[in-house]
Amino acid sequence: MAHHHNVKVRSARYGALEIPKQVVRYLRRYCQPRSSPETGGALGGYYRKNGNLVLSHVMPPSPRSRAGLFWFKRHRGDAQIFVNTVFADTGGAANYIGEWHTHPETHPSPSSRDFKMMSDLLKNSRLETSYVIGLIVGDTGELCAWFQDKEGNREVFRAVVAGQQPKVT
Ligand SMILES: [Zn+2]
Repeated sequence: MAHHHNVKVRSARYGALEIPKQVVRYLRRYCQPRSSPETGGALGGYYRKNGNLVLSHVMPPSPRSRAGLFWFKRHRGDAQIFVNTVFADTGGAANYIGEWHTHPETHPSPSSRDFKMMSDLLKNSRLETSYVIGLIVGDTGELCAWFQDKEGNREVFRAVVAGQQPKVT
C-alpha cells in the first residue's frame, strides 16, 4: 500500500500550490496503463488566507470526454457542471483552477499540445485568475504540475510526487 503525503509546490512567481494527500491518492488511482487511453478532467480549488492555492476538487473522468493513447479532450459541458457543483458545495469558496490528465510515461511532463490546450483555455474562458494549474499523472503515479498564465509564461514542476516502484511480475 503506497503512502501518501500532503504536497506543496512553491513557485516564486505564482505562489504555493497545496495538494492534500487525499487528492494525491485520488489522482493516482488513474495511473494510465500504457495500453489505455489518456483520461482526465477539470480541477477545483480555493485560496487560503495566506495566499496558498489548495487543489481541493478533482473532476472524475467523464464518459463524454474523448481520448486516445496520447491525447485527451475533456467534455466542456461536464466540466461546467463540475465547476458549478464545486462552487455551490463550497458556498463560492472554491472555483475552477485548471486541468488534469494522465500520460503513458513514468516521468510525465507537459507536451507542446498540453501547453497549447491551456493557452487556448486561458484565451477562451472567463477566468477570475490570471493563471491555471496543469497536472499530469504518470503510469506509476508520479505527478507533474505546472502553472501557466495569460501572458504565455509558465513554470513546470516535475516529480512533485515520486512514482511507485513498478511491480515486478
Ligand atoms: Zn498531456
